[in-house]
Amino acid sequence: MSQPKNPKVQPQVLDFTPYSACLSIATIKAEYNLSRVIKLASNENPLGISPYVRQVIEKSAGFGFRYPRPGSPDLCRALAEFYNLKPENFLVCNGSDEAIDLLLRVMARPGTDNVLVFDPSFSMYSLQAKLCGLALRRVKLNPDFSFPWARLFQQTDPSTALVFVTNPDNPSGYAASKEEILEVASSLPENCLLVLDEAYVEFADQPQSVSPLAELLDAGNLIILRTFSKLYGLAGLRLGYGIMPGWIRDLLLRVKPPFSVNLLAEEAGLAALKDRLFAEQTRRTVQEGKAYLSRELQKASCLVLPSQANFLMFRPPIPAQTLHEHLLRQGIIIRPLTSYGLEDFLRVSIGNQLENKTFVQATQHIIAQS
Ligand SMILES: *Cc1c(COP(=O)(O)O)cnc(C)c1O
Repeated sequence: MSQPKNPKVQPQVLDFTPYSACLSIATIKAEYNLSRVIKLASNENPLGISPYVRQVIEKSAGFGFRYPRPGSPDLCRALAEFYNLKPENFLVCNGSDEAIDLLLRVMARPGTDNVLVFDPSFSMYSLQAKLCGLALRRVKLNPDFSFPWARLFQQTDPSTALVFVTNPDNPSGYAASKEEILEVASSLPENCLLVLDEAYVEFADQPQSVSPLAELLDAGNLIILRTFSKLYGLAGLRLGYGIMPGWIRDLLLRVKPPFSVNLLAEEAGLAALKDRLFAEQTRRTVQEGKAYLSRELQKASCLVLPSQANFLMFRPPIPAQTLHEHLLRQGIIIRPLTSYGLEDFLRVSIGNQLENKTFVQATQHIIAQS
C-alpha cells in the first residue's frame, strides 16, 4: 500500500533525516569480501566487555523472563554510593539517548521555548528537538573547536529552555574547564537548564577539573549525562544515566517507559561499577593508545586536535574521503565527519594495540602513496 496523500503524520517527521550510525563490521565484510575488519568508528571500549560483567550477565540470563523494576532502584542506589550523592538524583536510562529525549519532551514547551546546541555537535540533540517541534538555535563553534560562550549568550533569551554542551566534546575532543561551565550555568536566563553530556569525561586527563559534578546540586540548573557505553564497554546493552536535581528527575520518571532499562543492563551496570580494575585498564589503554596514534598521525603530516576523549579528530594531508575509502577496502572502519559538516576531517576511536598499529600502518602507507 502506498502512502496516502495527506497522512495524519507529524509534519516534521515527513522530512526527517535519521541518525547516521557508522558502517557495521558485517556490511564491510560483505561489501569488500574481507575476513577481518577493524572498527574504530563508534568510540567503543578497546578492551571489549569486562570479563567480570560478562560473567554476571551470563548468570543473570535465567531471570530474562522477569520484568525489571521501574526506575532501576538498585542501580540508583549504587550510583549514589559511587558518587556520594542521593539515589533521588539519578535517572537511569536506556542509554544517554533516552535521557536526551526525555529532557527535550518534558523540560521544554513546543511553540514557546527554544533549545541551543553547538554546531557541529552530537546529532541526537537536534534530531530529538526537531521531533518534539522545538525551535532549535545553533551556535557555531570557534575555529579551534573551543566553545563560543559569548555567541551562545547572544542567542539565549527568556524562552531558552535547554542548552546542550558535550564536554569533552564530540567529535573534536576539546574540553572546557569546570570553572568555565559553572560560570556559564550561573549566567543563563532564569529556568534555563544546562545539560552537560559527559559521555567521555572519564577519559579526560583530570576528570575533576572538567566536570562540575561536586557543584551540581548547588548550581540548581545543571544536569549531567553519563553513560556505560564507553568507559564501561556496555554500548550494546544501552545503559546511561542523568544526574540532576530531584524535582527534575521526578518529572522525567513520570513519563519514562517503565521498563526501558532491561534487567540484564541493570545487573551489568551494578557489576561494572564494582569492576574498578577494568575501568582503570580501559583508561590506561586509551591514554597510551591516544599518545601513540597522535604521534604517528602527525608523522604522516596529519593535523591532530588535542583530545580529552577516547578518540582523535584529525585532518589528513590528502582528501579525507580518499583516506576513508582506502581504509575501508583494507577492512578498517573509521568515522567520516560529513554529517557534522566537517568534510576535511576524520575521527578515529582509540583501539587496542594491534588495532591502533594496523590503522597507523595502513594510514601512513596510503598517505605516502598518494
Ligand atoms: C557515545 C555518546 C553518548 C552515549 O550515548 P548512549 O546512548 O549512552 O550510548 C552520548 N553523547 C555523546 C556525545 C556520545 O558521543
